[in-house]
Amino acid sequence: MPHTSAPNFPDSPTAHALPSYLQADHLGPWGIYLQQVDRVIPYLGPLARWAETLKRPKRALIVDVPIHLDNGTVAHFEGYRVQHNTSRGPGKGGVRFHQDVTLSEVMALSAWMSVKNAAVNVPFGGAKGGIRVNPKTLSLGELERMTRRYTSEIGIIIGPNKDIPAPDVNTNEQTMAWMMDTYSMNEGATSTGVVTGKPLDLGGSLGRREATGRGVFTVGAEAARHIGLDIASARVAVQGFGNVGGIAAKMFAQAGAKVVAVQDHGGTVMKESGLDVPALLSHVAHTGSVAGFTEAQALPDDAFWDVRCDILIPAALEQQITAANAHRIQARMVIEGANGPTTPEADDILQARNVLVLPDVIANAGGVTVSYFEWVQDFSSFFWSEDDINARLTRIMKEAFAAIWQVATDHQVTLRTATFIVGCTRILHSRELRGLYP
Ligand code: NAD
Repeated sequence: MPHTSAPNFPDSPTAHALPSYLQADHLGPWGIYLQQVDRVIPYLGPLARWAETLKRPKRALIVDVPIHLDNGTVAHFEGYRVQHNTSRGPGKGGVRFHQDVTLSEVMALSAWMSVKNAAVNVPFGGAKGGIRVNPKTLSLGELERMTRRYTSEIGIIIGPNKDIPAPDVNTNEQTMAWMMDTYSMNEGATSTGVVTGKPLDLGGSLGRREATGRGVFTVGAEAARHIGLDIASARVAVQGFGNVGGIAAKMFAQAGAKVVAVQDHGGTVMKESGLDVPALLSHVAHTGSVAGFTEAQALPDDAFWDVRCDILIPAALEQQITAANAHRIQARMVIEGANGPTTPEADDILQARNVLVLPDVIANAGGVTVSYFEWVQDFSSFFWSEDDINARLTRIMKEAFAAIWQVATDHQVTLRTATFIVGCTRILHSRELRGLYP
């Protein structure tokens, strides 16, 4: 893949020195995103004159979230909502509750949402939010108060036509129900379309909970076909066994694959003959982690990267596959269920070793695709059948993946750069058509 630096277009809107929070944190997700953008600029043709747009979030909000704890004291949490780009439509992206959340992480996650939403051609820009908190230390009541206060604080920039949050790490349907209710109370009218990933009884969509994992499986199966890998006899290793990793593992197992290793925040388990995925899911539902699952062998966490497998699915957090472990990966294919799990150095190592990487910006786009369906259904208050939703999801994912595969073949670039070419071209074309105000 060519690693040409950005061409210097004489008519580029002037790139003034970046504010400090936009400087590349070379070791962090925002720095990684900027490197990914630099790799795509040579393929954007005249639209590259707008590339600076991709390197700056449109809007970033930091909010203080004070709540009463159960013991009577007051705690303050730091919350964020970033709208990276809204050229193609309202912002769209999840909300993460995690102790390591930072502004620059949320900026990167929002930017990847812009690229992803454009790559599958849903009419959204990119956004993301988060609170720097370990939610496992909070009671249910504290969690609800924190979620509601956060929603109220970011309420000035979200809305069904402005920016639509959804679940991400450590947030779920209940979180979305609280967010929808809080926004609706402040507006004085029930507004189901303000968030997606809601419970079914509150305007949620059938198929949304499984959508990201289903999309991971769909593009994985398409790519496997291209490289002559038989899913029915494939060995699969999964990092992260929550919404994305758990569902993806279940779908690969249902297709006949052996899920040989699973790692989550609590530990790593392995079984040569294939884990019983439904039994492991039920163990996690009861205990909170894969650790202690007696029908498997426990592995030291670091040994996960050496597991003999055909398909590796990182479905936890960013920067898990790095220069330090990429050369140990046995798989023929990595499917990025997580956002940003592979560093650019690791990308290059995997490419050199002929390991196919299906990048986050297409591999995990199933979630936002069904979120789009949910938003459309909420506007019309007319709800579709699960078969309808799954069929539409599969069609969109297959078509988007086929187009990206073609671009990768035509330009001889990785699937990540190809997805960025498709996504960034659409974003910048909209940018150009809209022009600058004033
Ligand atoms: P989740 O909270 O349901 O699950 C997260 C999983 O990661 C858990 O199993 C947790 O134990 C594990 N984990 C956390 N820290 C870990 C560590 N240090 N090592 C190993 N495992 C660890 O979250 P999710 O919704 O499944 O999201 C997972 C990833 O997928 C994130 O990167 C998220 O941004 C991305 N994603 C999610 C969606 C969605 O619809 N939920 C859509 C697109 C992308």
